[in-house]
Amino acid sequence: MPELAAIALGSNLGDREGNLLAAVEQVRALGVVRGVSSFYDTAPVGYLEQPRFLNGALVLETSLGPVELLRGLLGIELAMGRVRGVDQGPRVIDLDLLLYGGLVMATEELTVPHPAMGERRFVLEPLAEVAGGMVHPVSGVTVGEMLRVVQSEQ
Ligand code: ADP
Ligand code: MG
Repeated sequence: MPELAAIALGSNLGDREGNLLAAVEQVRALGVVRGVSSFYDTAPVGYLEQPRFLNGALVLETSLGPVELLRGLLGIELAMGRVRGVDQGPRVIDLDLLLYGGLVMATEELTVPHPAMGERRFVLEPLAEVAGGMVHPVSGVTVGEMLRVVQSEQ
């Protein structure tokens, strides 16, 4: 049975919009893209001395398992020339697996739901456009509700 996965996209090097659009096209090899958000210009979080990001989100219907999907996303990052440097530092493309159906798992390679998604407005704002009704399997709260919580805090 295919699952619905929520994926975050980010870029802050080069042609940011072109990078996000190219990543969306490559993700189509991993399943059927059911929705792509608009893209948001956002300030860097954590490591501040770097360019602003462009962030988006998409919903993918996929027959891949969660680890296969993550490896596919990391393969796209590599193919697009991502070099791993500073933690949370500048990147041509970052693809994070936020939700994979109702799955909860935590290994060294993959943690889903993504542990930081609930605190990150730059993740929840685009995600709510395409998956506002998806439920976080640990808290039972929808993405739309999670966004309202961070909006009231920030
Ligand atoms: P970040 O996105 O947190 O800045 P990276 O993109 O450099 O960090 O990812 C580092 C590692 O995080 C990846 O090699 C991957 O194995 C691991 N990882 C664990 N859970 C996830 C997830 N839900 N989505 C993406 N990567 C994850
Ligand atoms: Mg990442």
